[in-house]
Order: sequence, then C-alpha cells, then structure tokens
Amino acid sequence: MCAQFEELGLTLLQARQTWDWVYRQGALSFEAMTNLPLAVRYRLEELYSLERLPTFQEHLSCDGTRKWVFSLPGGSDAPTQLSSIPSAHTASIETVFIPEEKRATVCLSSQVGCSLRCCFCRTGTRLFERNLTPHELVSQVLHVKDKFADWPQHSKTRYLTHIVMMGMGEPLLNYEAVKEALALLLDPHGLAFSRHRITVSTSGIVPVLASLARDCRVPLTLSLHAPSDTLRSQLMPVNDVYPLKELMRAVHAYPQMSKTKYVTIAYVLLKGVNDSQAEARALLSLLQGLPAKVNLLTFNAWKGAPFAPSSAGVCATFSRILTQGGIDCFRRRTRGRDILAACGQLRADTQ
Ligand code: SF4
Repeated sequence: MCAQFEELGLTLLQARQTWDWVYRQGALSFEAMTNLPLAVRYRLEELYSLERLPTFQEHLSCDGTRKWVFSLPGGSDAPTQLSSIPSAHTASIETVFIPEEKRATVCLSSQVGCSLRCCFCRTGTRLFERNLTPHELVSQVLHVKDKFADWPQHSKTRYLTHIVMMGMGEPLLNYEAVKEALALLLDPHGLAFSRHRITVSTSGIVPVLASLARDCRVPLTLSLHAPSDTLRSQLMPVNDVYPLKELMRAVHAYPQMSKTKYVTIAYVLLKGVNDSQAEARALLSLLQGLPAKVNLLTFNAWKGAPFAPSSAGVCATFSRILTQGGIDCFRRRTRGRDILAACGQLRADTQ
C-alpha cells in the first residue's frame, strides 16, 4: 500500500484512509471518499478503478448456495492492471458462495481454466487461459460483500466469515498473485480476515508449499484422492511431476513452518476406483505422523464424467477405517450440486 501511494505523494494517513474506504467500507467511487482532499481523489480516479467484476450469470441452488459466472478480459498473459487489459475476447470464471447456519464461505477461483487436468474435475476439461490478477482474486470477495451489504455501515457483524481458494485453477501455479491477494485479505487495514479463516487448496505443487507456509501462514488443504503413485498419477497427472514421497515430505513440514495446527486432506470417493478398504488402510499409513484431518468428498457428477460416487456403505467403511486408525475424518455435505457449483463441477460455461 505505502510504496504505491507514497509515489503519488499521499501521506500515510491518506493512504490508510483510501484503503479504509475501499476495503473496510466498500466504496464504489473515489468521489465518495470525502475525508480526502479533492486533488487526491482526482488523482486516484485517474490511476485506479473501483469497478467490480462484470457478472455474466447468477445461479441460486435449492440449498441456498449461489454461483456467479464473471466475464473477464481474455488473453494468455496475466495483466497487471484491469484497466490496461485489451478486451479482444472474454474469459470466464466462477465464484461460489455457501451459506451455513454459523458461517458463510466464498470459494474463489485463481485461474481461468486449469492446466492440471485431474480427471474427476470438470474444470480440467477446459483449456487453461490465464492466471487471475490479485485485483480479480480480491474482487470476487468484494462482490460477495456487496451482494449481501456486508459492510460496517449496513451491519455490525460480518456476514462473510470464511474464504477458500478451491474454485477453478491451481492457486500455487499463480502464486505471486495469490500471495498479494492474501496479503490484502489478511491486512488489518485491508479486508482484515483472520488467517485461520482462509484456506488454500492445492493438488500439490511441491516447490511452492514452503513459500506459502512462510509468506502467508494460512491453513492448507491437500487434494490427495489416492494413496499410491500409480493410482494418483492416473487421476491427477501432476503426480508424475511431484510424486507422493516428495509431496508428503513437503506437506509434513507445512504445519510447523506455517504455524497451523493440521493439514486437511481432501479425498473424493470414486466408485470402484479409490474407495476400497485396502486403499483406506494405505491412506492411513500415508498419513502416519502428519497432523491431519480427512474430508471425504462425494463425487459430484457432470456430463461426460467417467466416474460415479461410491455407495453410502462403502463411504461409511472407508471413514470407519480412518477413524479407527486415529485420523479425524469428516463426510462433507455436498452443496450447490443442482447448479453445478459443487466441488469438482466448476467450468464457467457461458453458453
Ligand atoms: S482439481 Fe483443481 S488442480 Fe485439478 S483440474 Fe480441477 S481445478 Fe485443476
């Protein structure tokens, strides 16, 4: 904040006041920043934009989950400023909002498409187009806050409580932008989220895990989905680059480096593929010594998907083996499946 605003000649107080308007009060125009001198407001207006992401579609699930499709400037390179992007064609991403009794979570996308092609994930069926900018990452949160008037002038208690980066794309392949966005989301003068309420999910980009732990210190979810290299490489080609031995070494180091208590392991149960009792036991042994919780996910079908969800009985047995082995294991309730907003269903089709 300070370096950029210092160059503009803003005092520290003025820089803080600007951030306060943007991130604490949700201002939509520089004109509204009435405690700043007019000349400063004009200068900010010349250089920056407070425009939100253009919404292409909004979908509401019968369970209250919402999904927005945003239409963004296209192009294969990550632009640095929204206003400088040539709008030759548009790209699209999806953001999901999940309200629950005691919390409300937004699930952010980090890339347009994804290059990793995990074969149970619908995002992997579209081409990777580009990384999102820090502005585009944070704007997904601002959109949700606008939508629910979640600003202090409207309500004293925060409505949006949690942020997860589990939408389209692999966050750690867009690390610099993710780091910058996280800094803004965590900054007490920015959006001021507690770091315990932001989770980054990764398929396991080993060289970046230590940086995430050191720089951002946010809780980690590892998309594991298989307990052996052979099976994991079939489901997630990224495993050929970062096999399990290397991955688990980096993941074991994560809690201590990031000062987080545990790593969450996401494991989607695919009928007849990774849901046997032998695989549950292999998973148990892979997680030995790691402070971990396992989220067992139901496979959410999409057209053309080559998998089916495991039966309730198989899920229960899998879960029981983990629990009896001393691992905390949760079965996550699927949300937003009817609007293709559940885990693994995002694709941002605009047709
Ligand atoms: S699961 Fe994540 S990393 Fe894998 S294809 Fe889908 S979005 Fe990409």
